[in-house]
Amino acid sequence: MGYYSRARNLHKGAQQVVSQFGGQIPRTPDEIRSISGIGPYSAGAILSIAFDVREPAVDGNVIRVFTRLDANGDDVTKTPVVKALTTRVRSTIPEAAGDFNQALMELGALVCRPDNPLCDNCPVQAFCAAYAQGNPEQYPVKGKRTEVKDLPLWVALVQNPDGQWLVQRQEQGGIFKGLWCFPLMPPQAQITPEAGLQTHLQTLLGIPVQVNTQLAEITHTLTHRHMRMQVYTCTVTESPPLNEGLAWVTPGHHPDHAMPIAHQKITRFVQAHPLLLLLA
Ligand code: SF4
Repeated sequence: MGYYSRARNLHKGAQQVVSQFGGQIPRTPDEIRSISGIGPYSAGAILSIAFDVREPAVDGNVIRVFTRLDANGDDVTKTPVVKALTTRVRSTIPEAAGDFNQALMELGALVCRPDNPLCDNCPVQAFCAAYAQGNPEQYPVKGKRTEVKDLPLWVALVQNPDGQWLVQRQEQGGIFKGLWCFPLMPPQAQITPEAGLQTHLQTLLGIPVQVNTQLAEITHTLTHRHMRMQVYTCTVTESPPLNEGLAWVTPGHHPDHAMPIAHQKITRFVQAHPLLLLLA
């Protein structure tokens, strides 16, 4: 049900099951796919394992097993190739669909491993074209990896007179939606980070904000993004009332304000280097 959005999808999906399907998990591919966050793999896994519906659950393990069985050299990063593999897997599913799909998953995870597959102990060795060719590890064929894009950000560590830090709930769509981050903004052309953050923070807080020197650059890599967060310490001389979506929190102790790993890294860095914070 997603990775970054899993909890939100799980909650929304449960509500859909109650409101649209009378509290019963639907048993057809189209219906179950209409539930928030359920894609082809989850649909196939749920339908086959829970209800023995003959639907494939094609993940990386299953792709590896079938490309090796067929010595299939097509690029498995291409959608049409995965669709064709899904059709191929579907054509092999017996009535005991749940057992079959789970056996395939186990075969891929424990025997037909990415490296050093245990072909001598493999129950389907007799049908395996890659084994016959002597080159199982050449499958599956994967094309160019998805490019990881650079994502520079200016991040503000705003501390109030009580030693609390300002965090902001991320409202726009995106991976951090609903989580609390230190105020941030993308770099702006022809303006310094200090000036950009000062304007941004004054708009948020409605009072003057002192932006100090850069504290550090903290990096964090997500699946498709390499975040480079230039962190600036900032100070305010008072704690104004905050608008919705802003909060003052105690560093490292904010159970009601879930923070993404990238920003937890900033917290850990600052706590490990308290002198830097004083000098900045
Ligand atoms: S014989 Fe080897 S390569 Fe073929 S399916 Fe079994 S473990 Fe995989």
